[in-house]
Amino acid sequence: MAQILLENVKKIYDGNVVAVHDFNLEIKDKEFVVFVGPSGCGKSTTLRMVAGLEEISEGTVSIDGEIVNDLQPKDRHISMVFQNYALYPHLTVFENIAFPLRLSKEKRLVALSDVEKAKAEKQLSEAKLKLDVSNEKERAKLSAQIEELTEKLEKGKYITGFTSDEIYERVTNAAEILGITDYLARKPRALSGGQRQRVAIGRAMVKDCKVFLMDEPLSNLDAKLRNQMRAEIILLRKRINTTFIYVTHDQTEAMTLGDRIVIMKDGVIMQVGTPSEVFDTPSNLFVAEFIGAPKMNTFKTRLTCEDGKYYVNPFGSKLEVTGEKGLKLAENHVSNKEVILGVRPEHMVLRKEASEDAIKCVVQVNEMMGSELHLHVLTNDGTKLIVRVPTVNLTHEEVRALSNGETIYVSFEGKVMHFFDVETEQSLLK
Ligand code: ADP
Ligand code: MG
Repeated sequence: MAQILLENVKKIYDGNVVAVHDFNLEIKDKEFVVFVGPSGCGKSTTLRMVAGLEEISEGTVSIDGEIVNDLQPKDRHISMVFQNYALYPHLTVFENIAFPLRLSKEKRLVALSDVEKAKAEKQLSEAKLKLDVSNEKERAKLSAQIEELTEKLEKGKYITGFTSDEIYERVTNAAEILGITDYLARKPRALSGGQRQRVAIGRAMVKDCKVFLMDEPLSNLDAKLRNQMRAEIILLRKRINTTFIYVTHDQTEAMTLGDRIVIMKDGVIMQVGTPSEVFDTPSNLFVAEFIGAPKMNTFKTRLTCEDGKYYVNPFGSKLEVTGEKGLKLAENHVSNKEVILGVRPEHMVLRKEASEDAIKCVVQVNEMMGSELHLHVLTNDGTKLIVRVPTVNLTHEEVRALSNGETIYVSFEGKVMHFFDVETEQSLLK
């Protein structure tokens, strides 16, 4: 259980580097939030301020309504996984995972086992019997013992740290979930990158925590393993069901993992939204180009309004802004002006022949991706565009006809257009 609130959080490093400007975000209990953005945009700094590893220059971080600015990291009930796994090379996998449990000095109330309970009951009845036949001095001691035993039987018992049974149970449980049971006796150097990362995740999992923080945990893995671990993190999240903040520079990871994504640039939040919100309705040019691969095509064009209908004229064509997008422009009173038009590569379609609503281009590079082609094309004024073409319904001849140097015609519908202000780069559809 943990709700996290960041209010007006700011980080100024020595030498006046403002790494995070006025960060405001409410993370709901059990939500999986991803901070994404290019390197240096302040993701790790923000995460480290939540963890207590970095001092907060201004503003407050609260966990479950309690301001934690001055709490030590260990008192925040947070687990964190880093990009460089930071395992102890001289310890086995088991001991690496057990490490935070062995270190714990937490005082906890635990239930009595049946044997312990029977023993305490026996001690209690003996003490009660003795009480009647003992002298003044002994009686005080016995009363204290009776009180202690009664409390123990009612509540359970207090212990400090974790017992070896508990450690064994938790470590083997985590190893089971992560599929590393067979490696528990090995040292980290005898593991692959992916296995080491699992150990690091296991170590973060074993302690009860309210919040799970991960800073680029998959960045050191090769592409295939990264995809596999990404799927495992989705499963892990279901199993441990706690609040997650996950940091990455990779938009695919952000889109696939996050309930909500926080897109950052230069220490400022650019947009917060669900994956489909940030994909379908990017609030500015930066988000539009950052989310989605290959990235959105963006170019300047003139937006005109004739008889209540909007048109754009990219590269000598004339396309109507139909549907919702046209209505939104009208609602926002956007008048005739130059705009930045954005269209995703997968939203561009090939046309068989020239027409008013098609853009003439020349294929420069044809990348065969298997299920689709990525055509890098040049328009009549030399603007580069990327067009994604599914190959499923194309014949070999048709694919060949899309080779370098060929002239093709592409078009797109009004509903896939995005419009941004030339100066502010903000969306005109908000
Ligand atoms: P990200 O994790 O998004 O790549 P960081 O949070 O690590 O970005 O860094 C944000 C900015 O703060 C960068 O400009 C970085 O150079 C700067 N920075 C990070 N750590 C320190 C530090 N200890 N001292 C000074 N500047 C720092
Ligand atoms: Mg970082």
